[in-house]
Amino acid sequence: MDGNVQSTEIATPELDHSTLLQFPKIELHRHLEGTFELQTLFTMSIRNGIDLPTDFPSFKKEVQFPKDSEPDFLKFLSKFRNNWYRSHEDVWNIAYESMRAFADDGIHYIEVRFSPEHFAIHNNFDRLDITNIVVEAGKKAAEDTGTQIRYLLTFNRSRQTQEEMRELYDKVMSLQLSEIIGIDLAGDELNYPPELFVDFFKAVKSDGYCGTTIHAGEVTPAKQVWDALNVLNADRIGHGTSAIEDTNLQRYLADNGIALEQCITSNRQTGSWTDEANHPLGRLYKAGVPVTINSDDPTIQDSDLTDDYVKAVRYFDLDIEDLIKLNHIAIDATFLPETEKETLRNDYDAAVTRFRAAQNL
Ligand SMILES: [Zn+2]
Repeated sequence: MDGNVQSTEIATPELDHSTLLQFPKIELHRHLEGTFELQTLFTMSIRNGIDLPTDFPSFKKEVQFPKDSEPDFLKFLSKFRNNWYRSHEDVWNIAYESMRAFADDGIHYIEVRFSPEHFAIHNNFDRLDITNIVVEAGKKAAEDTGTQIRYLLTFNRSRQTQEEMRELYDKVMSLQLSEIIGIDLAGDELNYPPELFVDFFKAVKSDGYCGTTIHAGEVTPAKQVWDALNVLNADRIGHGTSAIEDTNLQRYLADNGIALEQCITSNRQTGSWTDEANHPLGRLYKAGVPVTINSDDPTIQDSDLTDDYVKAVRYFDLDIEDLIKLNHIAIDATFLPETEKETLRNDYDAAVTRFRAAQNL
């Protein structure tokens, strides 16, 4: 991930990419399938005879959405492949190397989301084996780097019915993995609205083990955010860019402490919001809506989370205190139990103190 945002001056000169790389970050919205460590992926592609270039620069070009190319949602989606793997070891390696790289982006705590289906479907691997492998790989990555890692299970609106979601959810919950703390609904929000998944989310809510986040208002109007809240009882919203159109919704989000997981770079590439400098994140933050800065799919985007921080600083005139506040908002919005949230808050503040001392900020 070499997504350095360069060019033009920034509002607060000292908060550039190299400084912000070190800044401790809490991330709530990143897909494991979109954040693969590229060199590991390249090696695996060659070993498994995947139909992709065998020289690294051409491979990189093929698997990533070029950083400065025109927004194109379908082209963006076409970059996700699920035929990389031939063995459990492949899944372990890519999961481990990708999560180990979180530390390079200054990530202190992350709720990374993954779809067991993605890793299993090509070889029809057992979904529970896959879930265990990903969580074990993350445990090792966390031990080796100090990044704290928790997981959300991603379910796809167009590829799984709510009955299939329920079946997989029940099986995964039977593993009793305390690291899995949330459920995410992703995929085609235009054609598969929240109403189709009411029973599944009702069941998840009544179990009480998992927080819920719904991709909504990314390419749909604010009404879909309302539906995710009213119909599915979402605890957080993925993207929610269209909340900028609806001041009643903004007030509701602020009053109820419901955070939007916003992703500036991703929104430009998919065409969800193409004018980065005018992205809703800055205005929503200043209006008191709980917003958070996230990367979404940094490998596909040829970017990193730090790029999104650089953009937020530059475009919305944020300073170090704003960035700390945004990360406190993210901590409040994690799906951790209250006592663990308190521990994370203290731990995070200590990391920020060390960062400020080292950077003289
Ligand atoms: Zn997403």
